[in-house]
Amino acid sequence: MIVSRGPSGVELAAELAGAHGKALSITLVCSQSSLLPGLRPRAGRYAQRWLEKRGVTIVLGEREPITNDGEPFWSPRAAAHADRGRALPCDVLLWCVGHRANGGVVGGGVIAADANLLVKSFANVYTSGDCLQSGEEKTASAADLAAMVAAVNGARALKRGDNPKLLAFPRDACAGAAHVPVVACVNLFKHSGVRQFKSVVICGAVAALTKAVIEAAQLTLARERACVFWLWRLFETLMLAVCRVL
Ligand SMILES: Cc1cc2nc3c(=O)[nH]c(=O)nc-3n(C[C@H](O)[C@H](O)[C@H](O)COP(=O)(O)OP(=O)(O)OC[C@H]3O[C@@H](n4cnc5c(N)ncnc54)[C@H](O)[C@@H]3O)c2cc1C
Repeated sequence: MIVSRGPSGVELAAELAGAHGKALSITLVCSQSSLLPGLRPRAGRYAQRWLEKRGVTIVLGEREPITNDGEPFWSPRAAAHADRGRALPCDVLLWCVGHRANGGVVGGGVIAADANLLVKSFANVYTSGDCLQSGEEKTASAADLAAMVAAVNGARALKRGDNPKLLAFPRDACAGAAHVPVVACVNLFKHSGVRQFKSVVICGAVAALTKAVIEAAQLTLARERACVFWLWRLFETLMLAVCRVL
């Protein structure tokens, strides 16, 4: 049994179903009324159809299993019960909900910062990524763009002293947009997936291919190949411009 509403649970269910087919009995429990609620409904519907075709049972709109007569639901004495009372027996539970930002360095939890990503109550600490308290979806592209703003602002503060001209997040990183466009991909085993570029959803093999290309580009970037860096910057700028008009 997998408990999750988001990409981790959907990708995990797809990996298990893709590798083992109907030999494994997989149940995905999601408290929302659809899978992948952070993405457009079409993405969730496609993922649901893909999983159900491969024998995954999807339980929507019921909260994760809760304790039964004081027994934790994974205890052999307790059947797992969702909050509406349905018994959901399981041998192995994969818990894919909730992650807490590790902001311990500045007090714990998510980190509050101003528009320049300067951490509140600090004069010289900038933040970015999933630990940043913001209204943006927690995605790699949002983390990447915020990291660029934090790095530029840190460097400018060092160089220009008291009155640096700092970038604002997300506006200055997103061609003036008020929010980072949602660019996300959820893989469904090896050759399928769903990809969302702002409001456009692509499903199937093309989505999986785009994720493979991005992964390869990121790995090459990490090896500090200058040409890939500039190609990536060009791609990112074009993507943000396209997202502005979508
Ligand atoms: C299954 C799944 C699919 C996803 N798919 C997409 C997608 O298609 N597109 C997309 O844009 N986003 C996607 N995301 C989200 C994306 O992975 C995150 O938003 C992104 O990784 C956040 O980057 P980050 O640098 O803030 O955090 P992380 O990538 O989590 O990196 C933080 C790092 O800091 C380390 N760390 C933590 N505490 C300390 C410490 N005290 N000292 C030193 N190191 C520490 C951690 O070990 C980790 O390596 C997906 C996430 C999941 C789980």
